[in-house]
Amino acid sequence: MIREFQVQGVPVSELARRYDTPLFVYDGTVLRDRFHGLRDRLHPAMEIFYSLKANPNISVCALLHSFGARAEVSSLVELTTALRAGVPPQQVIFLGPGKSRQELAACLDTGIYAVVCESIPEVALVDELARGRGVKAPVALRVNPRFAVKRSGLAMGGKPRQFGIDEEELFDRTDLVKRFPDVDLMGVQVYMGTRILHEAVIVENTTRILDLAERLSDALNLDLRMVDVGGGLGVSYFDGESDLDAQVLTDGLNPVIEDFVARHPGTRLIMELGRYLTAEAGTYVMGVRYTKTSMGERFAVADGGTHHHMAAVGIGSFVKRNFPMAVLNRLDEPPTEEWNVTGPLCTPGDTIGKKVPLPPVRPGDLIGVHRSGAYGPTASPGLFLSHGYPAEVLVHEGRCHLVRERDRPDDLLKRQRLYDPTAHDAADVTH
Ligand SMILES: *Cc1c(COP(=O)(O)O)cnc(C)c1O
Repeated sequence: MIREFQVQGVPVSELARRYDTPLFVYDGTVLRDRFHGLRDRLHPAMEIFYSLKANPNISVCALLHSFGARAEVSSLVELTTALRAGVPPQQVIFLGPGKSRQELAACLDTGIYAVVCESIPEVALVDELARGRGVKAPVALRVNPRFAVKRSGLAMGGKPRQFGIDEEELFDRTDLVKRFPDVDLMGVQVYMGTRILHEAVIVENTTRILDLAERLSDALNLDLRMVDVGGGLGVSYFDGESDLDAQVLTDGLNPVIEDFVARHPGTRLIMELGRYLTAEAGTYVMGVRYTKTSMGERFAVADGGTHHHMAAVGIGSFVKRNFPMAVLNRLDEPPTEEWNVTGPLCTPGDTIGKKVPLPPVRPGDLIGVHRSGAYGPTASPGLFLSHGYPAEVLVHEGRCHLVRERDRPDDLLKRQRLYDPTAHDAADVTH
């Protein structure tokens, strides 16, 4: 018998038959195990907020929320997604460096737990909006700390950045609470960077962030009801990387949290996690259309590519490395050849894997990119060459749920307007 990749007993060939390819498949059990693997070990005072940026699918958000995740959002649509997924407003925070007036108004009108402000002018705008509504706006300050994270895939703090307010500046702004009477300055947030794969680095960051929050709230006289320690927990994608060990991580984190809780028993503690929760649960499934050779190299030309999975081209590194890939319909066959896996786009950049060790590939095969549940379609140029976004299927408790329909031509064309160059008498339309 030929061994096939399955998601909770559903063979990949059946998924491809039912939903066509290319396709993202999410395994609800993996989502649950990722969440609980950490939740069950982590100090109970530390709440896990799901960063929708990693995968904004409403059903993924709803499922994670059913396990206990709260939501961290960064746009009006992400906010709407979280609320429609059933996350109560008091379990939602909104951050991002360039929030619009409309987004900030929505934060106040929906009554979310905190707006994380990233500049003083933003605090001023929130203050104005709150005054107009006769409410007091819950605001946490995002701090760009003096210290930088070591060994992260992408550092977000400790250097000149559009994110947050510099630590130095904040310590000089001792009038902040007085200056913005309609803002309730209730929290501190720091996000150091992403793709961290060393437990000790996360423990050290968390320690420093909690300490900074404490010093800052003393200096500014804040009523510190929330500290968001960011997160940045990575998952391994490439050769030579290894996954975080949740036990080792929480053995390091929990005493630090306990220490803080003892001094600030009423303060809500928040950790924001995106890829850590979703990456492993997703597989991008592509159908092979053609195989060929060019100047001695093999090419498998698939129906999917970088327009759905830009991250697979090598995130946070200049060396392009391959995500874990396999021929899903023939898992038993050893990888005896090297294949370039490419897509339908008219650019050499549409190479989703370079010289990937695979068994001999044939048209009709299903090639899968594993660990693709984060930063897939959401972080890819899905409109390039007007292919549109693929279907997404969630398998949970042995059943398949189509959680996003594939874009059809009409979906892509309906927001365009046809200007008819031959219709000369349209000139009387003015505006
Ligand atoms: C991107 C981002 C996250 C999520 O990052 P992951 O690496 O997916 O966990 C969390 N918080 C902030 C502020 C972010 O910018």
